[in-house]
Amino acid sequence: MKALSIVVPCYNEEKILRETHQSLMSLLKKLIASGKISEASNICYVDDGSQDKTYSLIEEFSQQSNQVSGLKLSKNKGHQNALLAGLFSVQGDWVVSIDADLQDDISAIEPMIKAIQSGSEIVYGVRDDRTTDSIFKRLTAELYYQLLSKLGVEIIPNHADYRMMTQRSVSALKDYREVNLFLRGMIPLIGFNSSIVYYKRGVRLAGESKYPFKKMLSFAWDGVTSMSTTPLRLVTTTGAVVFTITVLLSLYTLRIRFLTTEAVPGWASTVLPIYFLGGIQILCIGILGEYLGKIYKEVKARPRYIVEKTCGENFRN
Ligand code: UDP
Ligand code: MG
Repeated sequence: MKALSIVVPCYNEEKILRETHQSLMSLLKKLIASGKISEASNICYVDDGSQDKTYSLIEEFSQQSNQVSGLKLSKNKGHQNALLAGLFSVQGDWVVSIDADLQDDISAIEPMIKAIQSGSEIVYGVRDDRTTDSIFKRLTAELYYQLLSKLGVEIIPNHADYRMMTQRSVSALKDYREVNLFLRGMIPLIGFNSSIVYYKRGVRLAGESKYPFKKMLSFAWDGVTSMSTTPLRLVTTTGAVVFTITVLLSLYTLRIRFLTTEAVPGWASTVLPIYFLGGIQILCIGILGEYLGKIYKEVKARPRYIVEKTCGENFRN
């Protein structure tokens, strides 16, 4: 029988963690009792540098049960890094990651186990509807997935970071050393047999979203620039198109100057192109700068997370 590790990244989740813990513990007990997973199964909470009592709650849980362990990161490193810290620290044969607010339906874990038993190395949890989201979020998400696939990023629509992986695929992930993390784009790159389990996503039970609009936007942009260089090619294409138009326009102007008597004392035709081209140039430099910034970070290869302390057992060494 195989052991399951549940990895839960938590950032300022004191309002909800107790409830989450109860649900996860009863699920774990149920799965163990029904012989789906072994006694060695466990839950690992990763405290992503919370300012509230999140970590003391985690310590409390780990004292109550040796099936619970906790990691405390040295500072807030963001959801993706916290998740990675958890994935790389647990020792379960199967590892499932889930958000602390339990918006993702935990009953999907059982079908995920089935999928793994029938040969998948990675099982993606995919929301089968987005009715709990605002229309705005639904629309932007839809557009975003389309944009990513146009840019050549292999991504599973409506899949966030709720997925189960075998220890084998987790160790494959270790070879991806990038610092700019966009896990839902990176994991499909691993390959192997994979499958999808559909579930309904609920609303956050307490506390507020740690992804306000600004953070969401920056995560979306990271997704594009960490996974695709197509925007750079678009810059080149734009340059080429503008250049071609300018050449044609010059020929046209020469024709008017030498072959007709029409005067062209155009103010607009002088000033507008300056602003137009100036704008495009600044935009293109900006895009180049974005990638340069990423390269800068990658070259420095700073650690993606630092573990400050741990509680409980069940860690890999
Ligand atoms: N989270 C984290 N570090 C952060 C922000 C969020 O570990 O800097 C965790 C958070 O505790 C939760 C998960 O990431 O478990 C998803 O966050 P949230 O539910 O706020 O995002 P949303 O569901 O609104 O997209
Ligand atoms: Mg949430």
